[in-house]
Amino acid sequence: YTTAAAALEEPIKPPVNVKYDKLLINGQFVDAASGKTFPTLDPRTGEVITHVPEGDAEDINRAVSAARKAFDEGPWPKMTAYERQRILLRFADLVEKHNDEIAALETWDSGKLFEQCAKIEVPMFVRLFRYYAGWTDKIHGMTIPGDGPHHVQTLHEPIGVCGQIIPWNFPLVMFAWKVGPALACGNTIVLKTAEQTPLSALLVSKLLHEAGLPDGVLNIVSGFGPTAGAALCSHMDVDKIAFTGSTETGKIVLELSAKSNLKPVTLELGGKSPFIVCEDADVDKAVELAHFALFFNQGQCCCAGSRTYVHEKVYDEFLEKAKARALQRAVGDPFKSGMEQGPQIDSEQFEKILKYIRSGTESGATLETGGDRLGTKGYYVQPTVFSNVKDDMLIAKDEIFGPVQTILKFNELNDVIKRANNTRYGLAAGVFTSNLDTANTLTRALRAGTVWINCFDTFDATIPFGGYKMSGIGREKGEYSLKNYLQVKAVVTALKNPAW
Ligand code: ADP
Repeated sequence: YTTAAAALEEPIKPPVNVKYDKLLINGQFVDAASGKTFPTLDPRTGEVITHVPEGDAEDINRAVSAARKAFDEGPWPKMTAYERQRILLRFADLVEKHNDEIAALETWDSGKLFEQCAKIEVPMFVRLFRYYAGWTDKIHGMTIPGDGPHHVQTLHEPIGVCGQIIPWNFPLVMFAWKVGPALACGNTIVLKTAEQTPLSALLVSKLLHEAGLPDGVLNIVSGFGPTAGAALCSHMDVDKIAFTGSTETGKIVLELSAKSNLKPVTLELGGKSPFIVCEDADVDKAVELAHFALFFNQGQCCCAGSRTYVHEKVYDEFLEKAKARALQRAVGDPFKSGMEQGPQIDSEQFEKILKYIRSGTESGATLETGGDRLGTKGYYVQPTVFSNVKDDMLIAKDEIFGPVQTILKFNELNDVIKRANNTRYGLAAGVFTSNLDTANTLTRALRAGTVWINCFDTFDATIPFGGYKMSGIGREKGEYSLKNYLQVKAVVTALKNPAW
C-alpha cells in the first residue's frame, strides 16, 4: 500500500465550506438551549471540522412542539397531495443542482469517497425523493363490502409527529429513506442525526425549505444517543419512531418507545450477511462481487457480505484471487479520484476493527493480507482477508463494520444453508451461482430480508429493505415503506336504504 499511504500524509483541502452548523427548529437555525456544542471530526485526520450544538431533552422538546404544531395546525398534512408532491420534486431538483457541494460535505464529515457520494449517493437521494413525491397523490384507502347494512371505507391518514434516528454510515441516504416516506404521507418530523455526521442533513434541509417546505415540518437535532436520542424515543408527543443503527441500541429504542406511549417503531439494525459462492461459480466474477459486498463503503454497511462461504471445489482459487484483489485495493484520501477506500468513521470504530483483527488471529484464522492500520494519521485500515475461518469464531459471528473479509469453506448446499442461517441476524444474503435450482433453493431457504443473486447492494428506491430476526422490524423503501407512516381509519356509515 506504499503509494496510497504516502498520499495520506497530505490531506486534500475539501472543496466546500460549512454553511450550516446549528439545530433546525421550526424553520430556524438555533443553538442548543444549554449552549453546549461538540466537535465533528474529519476522519482523514481526526481534526475538527466545526462544532455543532449538543441537543438534549430540552431541544427535543422544542423540536417536538414545533412538529406537533405543524402537524395539528397545518398546513402540511392538510395541503393537497399535489402541492406536497411539487415541493418534494422542487427539492429533488435543488439537490441535483447542488450535487457536488453536498457530496463534498458528506465526504468531509464521513470519510466516504467523494466519487461514491457524487455519482451514487446524492443521485440516489434525488431518485428517492422523486420516488416518494410520486406516491403523495397515490395513497388512498379502500371501499369494503362489510356485512351490511353499512357503507365501509378506510382512510389512510398520516400518523403524526415522527421521530427518526439515523446512523453515520450513509447520512444522506438514511435521511432520504426516512424523511421521504414520512413527508410523502403528510407527517411532520424530528430527526436526530448521528453525532459523527451532523452536517449534510442541515444543508439539504435548507434546500427543502427553499423548495417550499413549511416551517416546523422537518426539525433536525444534532446530539448524542443516550440524551437527545433517548429523549425522542421517550417523548409522549411523538407518534412513531424510525431507527437505523446497531441491534443493541435498537433494543433500547424499542423499550423506551414502549415504556412511554407505546409508539410504533420500525428498526433497521445490524447484520452478518452470508455471501455464498457455489461450485459452478465463475471465480473471477465471484471474487469481484464478494470483494465489493464486503469492502464497499469501508466495510461500514449493515448488510455487508461479511461471511464469505466458498464451495470447496473453488475455495483455493477463490482465496488466492480474493487476497490479490484486496492487496490491489486503492486506499487513500477520499477526495482523490480513483480511490476505492477511505478512512473509517472515527477512532472508536477504528479501534474496534483492529481488536476484531487481533481476535481473528488469536482464534486461529489465517491472516492472508492486511491486518493493521494504514499510514499514521486518521482512521485508515488495510484491506484485510482471513481464511480458515470457523463459524464459532468471533470474527464470523459479530458485526465488524470494517474492511475485514472472512472466508469460510463449505462442501454441501444443505450444510451451508444451516450455517448461513445460524446467526441472530437476518438482514441480507448474497448468492453467486448460474444454476437455477441452486439459486431457487438458497433463495427460499435463507432467512434474510434481501437475497441478492449474482448482484449485491442493489438499492433502488422501489425495492423494500429490512431485516428478519434481530436485524429489524419493518421495511423501508418501496411501497412497503408507506405503511410505517400511515394510520388506517375505518369509516362505517349506516345505510338508511340498504337496497342501494
Ligand atoms: P453505532 O454504534 O454504529 O454508532 P448506534 O446504534 O449507537 O450505532 O447509533 C445509531 C444512532 O442511534 C445514532 O444517531 C446514535 O446517536 C443513536 N443512539 C445511540 N444510543 C441511543 C439511545 N440510547 N437512544 C436513542 N438513540 C441512540
